[in-house]
Amino acid sequence: MKKVIVVGTGAGGATAAKELSGKFDVTILEVGREFHPFGVNLKFLEKARSTGFFFDEREIQFLFPVMKIQKTMEHMSLVKGIGMGGTTTLATGNAVRCDDNLKRLGINLDEEFEELKNVIPITTEHQKIWRRSTRRLFEICKEVGFDPHVTPKMVDYSKCKRCGHCVLGCPEGAKWDTRRFVNAAISQGARLETGCKVRRIVISHGEAGGVMVQRRWYGEFLPADLIVLAAGGFGTPVILSNSDIELEPKLFVDPVLCVAAESKNVFQNKEVLMPFVVQQDHSIISPYFDQLSFFFNRDWRIPAENIVSLMIKLADENVGCLKDGIFEKNLTDLDKERLHHGVELCREILSRFGVKEGNIFLGTLNAGHPGGMLPLTAKEAATFHHDRLPENLYVADASLFPCSLGNPPILTIMAMAKRVSKTCIRKFAA
Ligand SMILES: Cc1cc2nc3c(=O)[nH]c(=O)nc-3n(C[C@H](O)[C@H](O)[C@H](O)COP(=O)(O)OP(=O)(O)OC[C@H]3O[C@@H](n4cnc5c(N)ncnc54)[C@H](O)[C@@H]3O)c2cc1C
Ligand code: SF4
Repeated sequence: MKKVIVVGTGAGGATAAKELSGKFDVTILEVGREFHPFGVNLKFLEKARSTGFFFDEREIQFLFPVMKIQKTMEHMSLVKGIGMGGTTTLATGNAVRCDDNLKRLGINLDEEFEELKNVIPITTEHQKIWRRSTRRLFEICKEVGFDPHVTPKMVDYSKCKRCGHCVLGCPEGAKWDTRRFVNAAISQGARLETGCKVRRIVISHGEAGGVMVQRRWYGEFLPADLIVLAAGGFGTPVILSNSDIELEPKLFVDPVLCVAAESKNVFQNKEVLMPFVVQQDHSIISPYFDQLSFFFNRDWRIPAENIVSLMIKLADENVGCLKDGIFEKNLTDLDKERLHHGVELCREILSRFGVKEGNIFLGTLNAGHPGGMLPLTAKEAATFHHDRLPENLYVADASLFPCSLGNPPILTIMAMAKRVSKTCIRKFAA
C-alpha cells in the first residue's frame, strides 16, 4: 500500500484521514496533544478578574494549552486550536453549508455535503430550550425585518447541559468534533502521532518525497508517496512557505466583535452560543457570550449573568500575508466601515431589548476562521490541485477558500477535504 501522510486533525485533516485510511497506509501527524476540555471552575476565575491577573488574551494558553492566540499590530487576537481535533474542539457547534463562492468557480459539493449529513448529527432542536432573553432577541430581529435563522448545530442536545462553554471544549461529549473522524481513521488502520510538528515538505525533482518533522528537540525525515496538508489557515501557509512554495497574500480571518450591555439576569453565559443568525451582505449577527472579552476586557467587569451580547462576524477582505513567519493582517477601510455598520445594527437590537444607549460597550476584536492563502480558482475546480504544488502534494483545509465566508466554515472545509480525498484515491490508490 502507498504511504500517505496527513498533516493535522482539524476539520480538513481528520476528514481526509478518515477517507484515505483503508485505501492507503495512512500516518496522521499532529503537532498538538490529546484534547481535554477546560478544567478550571469559571465562577472562581470570574472572581479572580478583579485581581488584574487577566490582562492579555494570550495568557489563556497557560490555563488552556489548546487555545493559542497571536496578536496582530491592530491588537486583533487570532485564535487557533492546537491539539487533537484542531480548532473544531473550540467551535460553538455551528454546522452550516457555505459554498456559494465555490459554486461560482464551478465546484459542486452536493454529494460531499450529503455524505456528511449522513454521519454528523445536525439539528436545530435547541430552539425548544432557549431562554427568555434569546427568544426575545429572536422576536426583535424578526420585528425589524432582519429575518433571523435558527442555527443548525452539531450537538446532541440530550447530553448538552447548556453550560455555555462550547469554546472551551465540551465536558459532556455532547458537541461533535473531528476527533470522531480521527478515531474512525485509526480503527481503519491509520496511525496517529501527536506532538509531531511538520516543518516543511521535502521536494526533489518536482516530487514530494516526505516531510521534515520536529519531535521535541530532534528533527527527522518521514518519507511518503502522497502528502495531504491540513494544518489549518495559519499552519499550512507556514509549512508551504518553509518549503519554498509561493502563497497568495489573501489571508482572511473573519473578525469578530461583540456589542454588549448590562441587563439583569439574561444568563446568556448559560445559553446555546449563536442560537440564531441574522445574515447581512458581508457579516452575520448572532447572540454570543464572549469568554475572551469577559475575562480580558475591562469593560466587561460585571457579573456574567447580567451581560447581553451580540456578535458581529465579518467577511473581511482577503488582504493579509505571512512575512518572516509572522502573519500581517489589518482591517481595511471597507472592513472597518462594514464592522461599524454591524455595530449600529446591534445597537438598534439592544435598544429594542431595553438597554440604554449609554450602557453599551464593545468586546475585544478576535478572529478564528483563517484561510485563503492557497485559494482555489476556476482552474483548479476539477482537480483541487494547484500547479505550484508537486503532483503528490494536496492541501485540504481552509487555505483553499477563494475568499472569506464570514460564516462558520467547518462543514464546508470537510466537504472540500472529502473531494480532495476522492481525487487522491482515484489518482494514487491503484
Ligand atoms: C472559538 C472558535 C469557535 C468556532 N466555532 C465554529 C463553529 O461553531 N462552526 C464552524 O463551522 N466553525 C467554527 N470555528 C472555526 C473552525 O473551527 C475552523 O475554521 C476550522 O476548524 C478550520 O479547519 P482546518 O482544518 O482548516 O484547521 P484546524 O481545525 O485548525 O486544524 C489544523 C490542525 O493542524 C494542526 N497543525 C498545525 N500546524 C501543524 C504542524 N506544523 N504540524 C502538525 N500539525 C499541525 C493543528 O494542531 C490542528 O489540529 C470556530 C473557531 C473558533 C476559534
Ligand atoms: S453548552 Fe452543551 S455542547 Fe456546549 S459545552 Fe456545554 S454541554 Fe457541551
